[in-house]
Amino acid sequence: MPAGNDTQPTPKVTPAQVRAWLEAVPDPEIPVLSIAELGILRDVQCRADETVVVITPTYSGCPAMQAIEQAIAARLRRHGVAAFRIRTRLAPPWSSDWITAAGRRKLLEYGIAPPVRTAGCGPAGADNQPLVACPQCGSTQTVRVSEFGATACKALYRCEDCLEPFDYFKCI
Ligand SMILES: [Zn+2]
Repeated sequence: MPAGNDTQPTPKVTPAQVRAWLEAVPDPEIPVLSIAELGILRDVQCRADETVVVITPTYSGCPAMQAIEQAIAARLRRHGVAAFRIRTRLAPPWSSDWITAAGRRKLLEYGIAPPVRTAGCGPAGADNQPLVACPQCGSTQTVRVSEFGATACKALYRCEDCLEPFDYFKCI
């Protein structure tokens, strides 16, 4: 913020305000999670002429990103922010490690196994797959049924103990 520059209009909003509005934007695919909890919302900058919102897509080609941008735009307009830009930042790439602790808990409550968090996405099971715990009973006796679950971001697993199928949020 340049000091003593009278030609620059004072921004009407602060990054903290904008962040508070946007933190509640739900992920279209997992509505219990907000874009902040997923780690998609990376940065908010309030410049004199416009507000810039920086997001990083979870997976390239995830069609949810368009819906997220629309939701962000709608929320900004509702709060009277007319001049804004939504920037997509691809580097560094989104990591499932960016999902917050609250986000991981909500995933589990929603019946989706959160990504196994370790370097290199291990520990690997016998078939070189991560050991995914069943969100229903906690058993790690689980098998991957399909590389793709309800969306490309998830894989379909089945628990050998309680026999329930479930989505696993893939680790990247
Ligand atoms: Zn189970």
